Amino acid sequence: MTLPTFENLVNAVTRWAEEQEANIVKHGRPLSPAEHALAARVGVREPHRIRVLLVPEVPFPNDTTVLTVASLVGLHSELTAGMTLRYGIYLRSDSIQQRGIWPHEFRHVAQYENFGSIRGFMEAYLRELINCRYGHGPLETDARAAEAHALPEGSDL
Ligand SMILES: [Zn+2]
Repeated sequence: MTLPTFENLVNAVTRWAEEQEANIVKHGRPLSPAEHALAARVGVREPHRIRVLLVPEVPFPNDTTVLTVASLVGLHSELTAGMTLRYGIYLRSDSIQQRGIWPHEFRHVAQYENFGSIRGFMEAYLRELINCRYGHGPLETDARAAEAHALPEGSDL
């Protein structure tokens, strides 16, 4: 097995993420007022650009390079409840009741904004996946901390 260079990996994932964001922007829905307010509260600068697309399963790059690395770092698409591609958010239909998922994914949008590009975020995120166990690096820790901002049960979200 030949491992790809880090740059190959960043290129492949960035290209895929750009396609997915375009797909979600085209087919997804904008945020409700409550979701918009929540996104702003966790630091998103342009919540009006966010689109959400509910899917039976969160898609995953069909690229051998990416799949090889994903399996090495313990990422499994079938376990993924949500995935944020800058302003595009995929949410698995059966996980939208998990209230923490909204601020978590919105926080990832804010991270993309802070990096200034999909590539910038992906470089940092892939580095984190390679260096830390999934869920234990700084970007995931930051997103998990935002889950405390979830709106209470029964509110309009
Ligand atoms: Zn996350």
